[in-house]
Amino acid sequence: MAISNPPVLAVVVPCYKETEALPESLPRLLQVLDELSASRLISPESFVLCVDDGSPDNTWGTILAAAGRDSRVQGLALAHNAGHQYALLAGLMDVRTRCDAAVSIDADMQDDPRAIIEMVQAWHSGAEIVYGVRRSRDTDTWFKRNSARAFYKLQHSMGLQSVYDHADYRLMSARALDILSRFKEQNLFLRGIVPLIGLNTSVVYYDRHERVAGESKYPLKKMLAFSVDGITSFSARPLRWIFFTGLGLLVIDIVVACYVLISLLYGNPVSGWSSLMLSVWFLGSLILMAVGVTGEYIGKIFTEVKARPRFIVRERFPE
Ligand code: UDP
Ligand code: MG
Repeated sequence: MAISNPPVLAVVVPCYKETEALPESLPRLLQVLDELSASRLISPESFVLCVDDGSPDNTWGTILAAAGRDSRVQGLALAHNAGHQYALLAGLMDVRTRCDAAVSIDADMQDDPRAIIEMVQAWHSGAEIVYGVRRSRDTDTWFKRNSARAFYKLQHSMGLQSVYDHADYRLMSARALDILSRFKEQNLFLRGIVPLIGLNTSVVYYDRHERVAGESKYPLKKMLAFSVDGITSFSARPLRWIFFTGLGLLVIDIVVACYVLISLLYGNPVSGWSSLMLSVWFLGSLILMAVGVTGEYIGKIFTEVKARPRFIVRERFPE
């Protein structure tokens, strides 16, 4: 893949109901592009692609207005709300053939846009994937901080290789994007997939800030769903755990059976009612859990075999 000199950088911004944040964040991103092209690290043709993830509000209008003011702002509108990961993928796949590297960043500027400068430097020194990693999570709520940490731990215990305290703020070279385009899975968890690409990587640390405007589009419900996806898309270990839990219970069962037989011979069996009830409930809930986990994987297979498009582009600007 030929690299233009200086290389073209694309910044991909997934946007869902970001009418308030975009007017604040776009000038900051353009400022970073200005600085980078002034020092000839990137081409002046570098651009920002805002992906409107089917927002019901005027996000698309805001993007078009910004594009009218500065030709480096481009827009891509999805036909419906595909979700953060898919909006990001849509943007990356759109830019991959017309840039030398792409940075993905959220619209709310919680991730310091100035870290892009260091990312570009790391890329010039040979890294094909540069992860943005949070230095601290002080601005997150106590709950978000700790639940995120617990999920990272859980994912690692299940063999998923994600980068600690890294969200989807990263630079990827055109080659890395090309490899990413060959991952066809429907259940998309980019943080888990990108480490599988396996090219030269590097890390840049930054401070995480408050949102510039608007509110989080990741309520607890979405966060939980995202975490479950993150695990079940990468590891079948929960299924194995169920098997071993069953095996362990079988051993306990033998002990219980001996106890029941002995008390039948020597004591009054009716007195065992409470332990019977306890085990019925306990086993019932375990079985339901096991069915649930298995169902989760079957659901995944179901969505994969349908192989529907992961996102649908409604329109782009400029066309
Ligand atoms: N986002 C999106 N589609 C969605 C939800 C969110 O494109 O369905 C975008 C959103 O506009 C933002 C990014 O994903 O740029 C991260 O969302 P948010 O900042 O609300 O999440 P948080 O930082 O609170 O986890
Ligand atoms: Mg945010």
